[in-house]
Amino acid sequence: MTGHRIQALLAMIALTIVVSPALAEKKIKALIVDGANNHGVWPQTTKMMKRYLEETKLFTVDVATRKQRGRDPEYKPAFDKYKVVISNYNGPAWPAATKKAFVSYMKNGGGFVVVHAANNAFGRWKEYNEIIGLGGWGGRNEKSGPYVYINAKGELKRDESKGRGGNHGPQHPFQIIVRNSDHPVTKGMPTSWMHSRDELYDLLRGPAENMTILATAFAAKSKGGRGRHEPMIFTVTYGKGRVFHTPMGHGIVSQRCAGFIATLQRGAEWAATNKVTQKIPKDFPSSDKVTLRKK
Ligand code: ZN
Repeated sequence: MTGHRIQALLAMIALTIVVSPALAEKKIKALIVDGANNHGVWPQTTKMMKRYLEETKLFTVDVATRKQRGRDPEYKPAFDKYKVVISNYNGPAWPAATKKAFVSYMKNGGGFVVVHAANNAFGRWKEYNEIIGLGGWGGRNEKSGPYVYINAKGELKRDESKGRGGNHGPQHPFQIIVRNSDHPVTKGMPTSWMHSRDELYDLLRGPAENMTILATAFAAKSKGGRGRHEPMIFTVTYGKGRVFHTPMGHGIVSQRCAGFIATLQRGAEWAATNKVTQKIPKDFPSSDKVTLRKK
């Protein structure tokens, strides 16, 4: 190596050292919470979601994993250090102090992203249900709030009828219909797109206050649904906090969908900052064709 080259190399190293921390500071600090889930793939889906967020170059991502054995009274993620918390958690109650810290984080302007079975968690935690808007299973019933869906006539329904919360038929690919293209998350998305094989959650119910439906999917009776358009991308405001919620994302194939990935990336940025700076990717699914990213 010539002296010149060594000098250039040293200059590059110096530049990297100087520039990188500054860039890292500008990035959005995100935290994934996990540690228990009735979906055994959660360690993999956490890794996938972490990678998807990092690939945008917008986020730095930490993971707070609750211990799987015992009650883990020490589980106390530092929510306040983060602009957005992403939940891949569906397990035992968090310690009381952690629940309190999370509610206060949200009231004070935190961001939260709910993915799939994270809306099964904490069925009897009042504030959590207000934060996520709608949920399923976990003892949810008419006391949890209405079923919310769009009926065959295109009318938004808040249906107070009795019954359990949460249902899905066999997994299948299904079409997402964008209902609101003015929101930063859905702006520029095709108005309909095919999502890869997933569980199509229906019968979700909850307080559904301050909730905006951005996209739905039709849960056909032939596929175990109720013949209604179910919320698939929606937002909730809670205090000063912003919540982005998608019931999609059951497994590996569901989370390899280029549409799911872009939805997650955009939803997380919006929950953190109230805007979306990302472009819709070239491989975004069309109205009839699924596109899968590599594992
Ligand atoms: Zn599932």
